[in-house]
Amino acid sequence: MDKFVYLFHEGNGNMRELLGGKGANLAEMTKIGLPVPFGFTITTQACNAYYESGKSIPALVEKQTLDALAALEEKMGKKLGDPKNPLLVSVRSGSVFSMPGMMDTILNLGMNDETVVGMAKLTNNPRFSYDSYRRFIQMFSNVVLEIDTYFFEQFLEETREQKGYYADPEMTAEDWQEVIGGYKEIVKKHTRKDFPQDPKEQLFLAINAVFNSWNNQRAIVYRRLNKIPDHLGTAVNVQSMVFGNMGDDSGTGVAFTRNPSTGEKVLYGEYLINAQGEDVVAGIRTPQPIATLQKEMPGVFQQFADTCHRLEQHYKEMQDIEFTVERGKLFILQTRNGKRTAQAAIRIAVEMEKEGIIDKKSALLRVDPDQLNQLLHRRIDDSAQKTILAKGLPASPGAATGQVVFDADEAEQLGNEGKKVILVSPETTPDDIHGMVASQAILTSRGGMTSHAAVVARGMGKACICGCEALKIDMKGKQFVVGDKVIRHGDIITVDGSTGEIMLGEIPMIDPELSEEFQQLLVWADEERKIGVRANADNPEDARKSFEFGACGIGLCRTEHMFMDLKRIPIVQKMILAENYSERMEALEQLLPMQQGDFEGIFEAMQGFPVTIRLLDPPLHEFLPDKEELLVEVTKLQILEPQSKELKQKELLLKKVRQLDEFNPMLGHRGCRLGMIYPEIYEMQAKAIFYAAAVLAEKGIAVQPEIMIPLVGHVNELKQMRQLVVDAAVSVQEETGKQFDYTIGTMIEIPRAALTADEIAEEADFFSFGTNDLTQTTFGYSRDDAEGKFLQAYIENKVLPDNPFAVLDQDGVGKLVETGVKLGRATKPSLKTGICGEHGGEKSSIDFCYRIGLDYVSCSPYRVPLARLAAAQATIRHESKNEQAVTTA
Ligand code: ADP
Ligand code: MG
Ligand code: MG
Repeated sequence: MDKFVYLFHEGNGNMRELLGGKGANLAEMTKIGLPVPFGFTITTQACNAYYESGKSIPALVEKQTLDALAALEEKMGKKLGDPKNPLLVSVRSGSVFSMPGMMDTILNLGMNDETVVGMAKLTNNPRFSYDSYRRFIQMFSNVVLEIDTYFFEQFLEETREQKGYYADPEMTAEDWQEVIGGYKEIVKKHTRKDFPQDPKEQLFLAINAVFNSWNNQRAIVYRRLNKIPDHLGTAVNVQSMVFGNMGDDSGTGVAFTRNPSTGEKVLYGEYLINAQGEDVVAGIRTPQPIATLQKEMPGVFQQFADTCHRLEQHYKEMQDIEFTVERGKLFILQTRNGKRTAQAAIRIAVEMEKEGIIDKKSALLRVDPDQLNQLLHRRIDDSAQKTILAKGLPASPGAATGQVVFDADEAEQLGNEGKKVILVSPETTPDDIHGMVASQAILTSRGGMTSHAAVVARGMGKACICGCEALKIDMKGKQFVVGDKVIRHGDIITVDGSTGEIMLGEIPMIDPELSEEFQQLLVWADEERKIGVRANADNPEDARKSFEFGACGIGLCRTEHMFMDLKRIPIVQKMILAENYSERMEALEQLLPMQQGDFEGIFEAMQGFPVTIRLLDPPLHEFLPDKEELLVEVTKLQILEPQSKELKQKELLLKKVRQLDEFNPMLGHRGCRLGMIYPEIYEMQAKAIFYAAAVLAEKGIAVQPEIMIPLVGHVNELKQMRQLVVDAAVSVQEETGKQFDYTIGTMIEIPRAALTADEIAEEADFFSFGTNDLTQTTFGYSRDDAEGKFLQAYIENKVLPDNPFAVLDQDGVGKLVETGVKLGRATKPSLKTGICGEHGGEKSSIDFCYRIGLDYVSCSPYRVPLARLAAAQATIRHESKNEQAVTTA
């Protein structure tokens, strides 16, 4: 018989898929003897069964739930709905992956007009009892009956005002009874029924609601954003209540075993005295830092600190813990691996290795390469002039500049238009996620380090400042006031989530540096990894950055960027417009020393590491003015100055632009097709490279130039271009009398090249897979058109799993890469292979490159550390699999 319900002591931490993350951890904590209020978990399979039976709870699930309830009642010595000694429970959702704020918890279930009286007597605390009941009505009505909380909040506020109170603690038992009366009327008005009084009915309605919430809009959006499959389902936890709102010796809080922002090994969190449930994270009252608990309740604090230590040792991971203190006794309500910033992830991994909790390989696997982006970004220049408007809590590090917006929808709209915006709001809710995604940073005036905004922003790696109470935000007037300054919608501000500072205007930022722990982790990564990491760099400065970040070579140096320089472009245009060979040579001879200088700088920066230089790739019209603009100018001149010399020149230029105009530039006269028709261009470039090599040879600096011919589709193209480069080398070596090594290879970026790689390898010393163009040519997508027009819809509708320009399409494009490597190596076993598309800096693509045996990946300089880590992880993952395979064989 299928088991759909598990009492906490029947499960364990490995049953996440069945019990959900929360349920599995509650079971595990029960097993190791921590103070967890008793309860049971209805499985994710029950959720799927619920949907299969057309959104109704199957009889078997119902029966098992009632049995578990009976066991719970027995254990607690209380009964659900018993007026004398009522059992109250919470109903909590929990899926396999934690989805913060996505699904709603109901507390105090079992409260009704009778049990509230019983509870009041039993606890000798009527105020507490009525407060709990009204909380229950409010939560239940919102989550299950779908009545907007607003109506209840408004009624409560009116009552409070009427009584002349400032805050809830002033409310008496009688006041709460009055509120309950009003709440019930609200319910009746909205549902035309009385608030359900039967606790079993309440329970099953709540279970239904949790199952339904698996498919509410915000859960669906969150899953899509985080690539969580829809079929997993959510579990439901039913747990006996403990009460943090029983007076000043009670409270509730959340804490991390280490600082989730910096990684420092100190308990880090917040709590509220005399409060229940989500009061802490909701950001309604500003909570106390956990350190204060040590002073206020030393005994409880010690219990808590010991428990945290135990949990961390047990899970061997930093934990995020939710707890409640009921009359001086500690209860643990949840634990999970804590979300953290990249900086904290690194520090925690390295320190846990040093503390002997985990080994180096585990430490390397603990840090998500994607997260490192945050650290490799720019931050505020310390020496910059800045006007600090206010300081809030540094909730998620990183700096950002943008225009102020107050509305998530608008943030989304402007963000999608490519504008930089900062979302400002008193606090955020799960309904704001789409706007948070599109913003550079989030700024709130309420809530602590564990508020919704803070948790979500850290997860997204976005800068966030919370609880900046100095901001008086006026959502209707679309502005905020701070001190004597008014910041309006659209004004530019800069925020620094590492310090909590909010600044007026745009503030200059500087490049990141790697922390000591980060460098340590990368040293370990280099020890493990079996695949090289190079950088794509087009100038000496980027080359130096790459070297600093640990690149062991340049995998792609694009020479066209060297032509785009303001001083050079007129000469490049002269070359293109040349009427004859000698005019063209004149221009090329002017360009040669400029390119040579660039190459010398790059070689020097790389200190003997290989540098792959790609000869000119884009079509020549990219260097000429825009056709339409030119046409407008010519027409104007024809009318205004028909006799002018300028008109003659422009007409000539327009003629050339028209000649070079292409129907489909991506597939037009570019890559080696340029070198085939204008060999003198490639010859000049090859010579510039070799002269630079000769100069460095003279200085005694080793160089390893690798000359790369782009867009080869047929071996004959490469054969001809190779000869041209070899001739250039011979002529430079003869002329300078210097010897230097070099190799010649090609970029594999056309399917035909991959499929005939065995032939092409005859002429190549290396292959570099240009996966940007290879993706375009394999899919037959022009990237610019695809990303702007249909790709987004394809991904949303799951036609494609990912954007293939960001994440390598392993099944299609990857198959061509793999074929290319196999065929190429069959001809030439020593063939060097690498990848230089944007995929070279993406973790799953790097994993693929490792598996098919590439020698290196190459990515943008800032992604080099990320790639080093991802390369180490690929090695560890697959090597340990191989070892396992050996031991089980
Ligand atoms: P979330 O997934 O949003 O964190 P939880 O199910 O963890 O939701 O519930 C939120 C909070 O409600 C908990 O942190 C805890 O403070 C409170 N809570 C849940 N169950 C109980 C319970 N049985 N007794 C007391 N408080 C509870
Ligand atoms: Mg919740
Ligand atoms: Mg929780």
